[in-house]
Order: sequence, then C-alpha cells, then structure tokens
Amino acid sequence: MTSVQVAPPSPHPLGPPRILTDPPGPRSRALAARLAASEAPGVAGFEGTLPPVVWEAAAGARVRDVDGNVYVDLTAGFAVASVGHAHPRVVAAVKSQAERLLHGMGDVFPHDVRAELAARLAAQAPFDDARVYFATSGSEAVEIALKTAHLATGRPGVAAFTGGYHGLTYGALRATARAEFRAPFEAALAPPTLRLPFPDPDHPPIPASPASLAEGCLAECRARLRVAGARGALPGALIVEPVLGREGVVVPPAGWLRELAGLCRELGVLLVADEVFTGFGRTGLRFAVEADAVEPDVLVVGKALAGGLPIGAALARAEIFEVWRRDGEALHTSTFLANPLACAAGIAALDVIEDERLVERAAAWGRRRREELAALAGTRRAVGHARGVGAMWALELLDPSGAPAPAATREVMRGCRGRGVLVLAGGPSGNVLQITPPLVIEEDDWAFALEALSGALADTE
Ligand code: PMP
Repeated sequence: MTSVQVAPPSPHPLGPPRILTDPPGPRSRALAARLAASEAPGVAGFEGTLPPVVWEAAAGARVRDVDGNVYVDLTAGFAVASVGHAHPRVVAAVKSQAERLLHGMGDVFPHDVRAELAARLAAQAPFDDARVYFATSGSEAVEIALKTAHLATGRPGVAAFTGGYHGLTYGALRATARAEFRAPFEAALAPPTLRLPFPDPDHPPIPASPASLAEGCLAECRARLRVAGARGALPGALIVEPVLGREGVVVPPAGWLRELAGLCRELGVLLVADEVFTGFGRTGLRFAVEADAVEPDVLVVGKALAGGLPIGAALARAEIFEVWRRDGEALHTSTFLANPLACAAGIAALDVIEDERLVERAAAWGRRRREELAALAGTRRAVGHARGVGAMWALELLDPSGAPAPAATREVMRGCRGRGVLVLAGGPSGNVLQITPPLVIEEDDWAFALEALSGALADTE
C-alpha cells in the first residue's frame, strides 16, 4: 500500500487567536497614554468610549497586540489588507525595493516600479485606453478626480450622495455626507454640494416601495440636477460609491448605477466612481461598477491597492486626462507621489489578487455568509438588518423602538475584542458592525469570529 503524503498545514506566524489579558491590557494602556501625551487629541481609537488596543504585529487575517493577545481581524485594517496583513510576497517586494530605491521625485524624476504599476493598473481599468494619476491616499485620489471634472467641464460643483464617504481633506469633504465631519468646516466647502438620495433599501430616502426605490431616487436626482442646471450651477462631477462602505455597507438595487451613468452622460456631468473601499475584489468583482457594466469617467482607488502601503490613484480614459497636459510644472502633484515602496507593494498585491484568485474567493465567501448572517439577525434581537455582498457585510443594530443603537454597537465591539475578534462600527450613527475581513480569511477563523459575534450580541440582550 502506498501512503499518501499530505503536507501538514503551515502554522500561522501569530499562532491561534487567544486572549491572555483582558483588552486593552497593561502595555496597550501604557502606550495609548504615552501617545496621548504627545499627539493631538481626538485621533486615537474611539477616545473616551473604547480605549484602543495597540497593535504589534499582523499576518493574514490575524493581529497581535502588545500584550500578546491575538485577534481575528474582521476589519482588514479599514479594508486595506485584502491580500492579508503582511502577505509574504508584498513584504518581499518592499524589502527588495527598500534596498534599491526608497524615494523618487514625484512628478520630476520617475522610477521603474512606477512605470510598471501604472501599466498594470491601467490594464485593469473597466474601460479602454485608461491612464493613471497616482496619489498618496484615497482622499487625494478623490481630489484628483474632482479637479479633473472641474478642468474638463469648467464647473467646480460636486454632486454626491446621502451616506457617501469620500475622505476628509477639504476637497473630498465636499463630497462626504456626514454632518459631524462637515459642520466645523462648512464655510470652506464651497460651492455647496448637491446632495442626492442614495437608494438604500433598508432606509429608503424617499417614500417608495422596494420595486420603485431605484426609479424614485433616479427621478429625484434628475430633478435636482435639472434645477441646478437651470440656476447655472450644474455640477462638474457626480461622485458615487457603487456600494456604500464606511457609512454602513449599503448595496443599491441592481441596475441603478447604470441608469445613473446614463443620466450623467445625458447632462454632461462626469461620473466619478469611488472604489477606494470596493476596489480589487472586495465585492466579489474586481470593481463594483462591473455589476452594472458601468464605465465611469473617473475611477478612484486606494486602500487595498498596495497590500498595506499608502497609495491611491485616479484612473480615466486618456482623452479625459488630456485636461492635465501642459508645459512646465504639474498642476497637481505631491512630494511622495508614487512612492517606490508603495509601487513595488502594489505590483506584488495585484499579483497576489490574481494568483490566489481573491476576487472569486470573495464572491464565494459572500455566498456562504449570506445565510449565516441572516440567521444571526433572526436569532439576535439587537440586529435589525444584515446585508452585504462579497467580503463586505454589515449587521445594523437597532434598539427595540427601531432607533439606531450606537452604545450597544460599541458594547458588541468591546465584547468581540474580549473574545479575540476585531470588528469596527460604521454607519452615520455608528450602529453598523462592519464585517470586511481580509479576502484570504480561513474558514476556521471565520467560525471563531462568528461565535464571538453571536456571544457578544447575546450579552447585549
Ligand atoms: N473613499 C472611500 C469610499 C473610502 O472608504 C475612503 C476611506 N475610508 C476614502 C475615500 C478616503 O481614503 P483615505 O482614508 O485613504 O484618504
């Protein structure tokens, strides 16, 4: 009898999820205090309500804190670690690049990996003849998209949706919806944003049946754009997340985006698809616009692009980007444009997404989660809605009156953390648990996380 050799599964570099000391442990507390003594206030964790655990290491779908606790990460670090934290191919690319060239010179002296990543990205665009404009963050890539639309149309105005999140720099903030982020800066956000209703099936922004929601929202968009046009204030850009991310994981009805793209074309408004969150497989498609076969005028990416290094990009057809052509200094650039380490990491991350078939993996993951999360919503009273697609899911917590329950949501975050699972709250009221793990999450880590979620939810009842 011949014996079959099966290679034992290689051990995870961080070992199994485990809680050694109730988080945040003493070292996390000490480091958070040290940070608070020297950093501006307001930018560390959910200050005051949920003291942070301080990260020390991360690999795949697991994170270790400075007290030795190991968590399953359902955040992918703000949906960045799609290929997993510290993917060995990304790490190897960064190490080898670091020994050769750490820094280029923005728009003046480019470098080889920038040329390679630009070509690779352009080839992935969901439209022909694509060109790339690099940025150092998602927000900056949004700025480039909005500036492109301004130059191309001569119109500075921006139309954006309820629940949209596009970043917090001044330009991007014009498009971001949440009043809390905008209010202190409103006077600087001119001209006023044309706010449009996003067809949110769980919270219809207009009185409409599920069947007429998309149509009703489109009619409203058309009417508001027409009124703006009649006043001489037609926006140059209409920016949209194909699936709302940070503000609650909201999937619009099928076909809506396609109709919206048609409306933009008809009115001569540039359609900017913000895929900073959804891009590179998160929704089970390479880009979420593909669900509706939409070709946006500008596509914005960031987060997962470089497997953990900071980079963003705007993509558009060559003809659209012609508006930037000029002699002399670039009209938009920055010191760290297309940083060589980030470019090398980006090439490696794109290879991993392809070789490990992560887009298909995310789609299959989402199909498996649909029933489990619906069942959780059915058995846990606090969960008002479970929704999502691919590796992008949400549990929306409501109190018995049906109102958002942000305090209970923070308790569930805390409860999950105590059980070895990191999960983030999002949504305009902070009452939506976002389940956006690395696309490489293993089934046993997910089973562990689901049990923790269920237990933490039970504790709130
Ligand atoms: N757009 C979307 C859809 C996002 O989710 C984010 C970040 N959450 C941004 C833009 C801004 O990206 P960054 O935080 O890298 O500036």
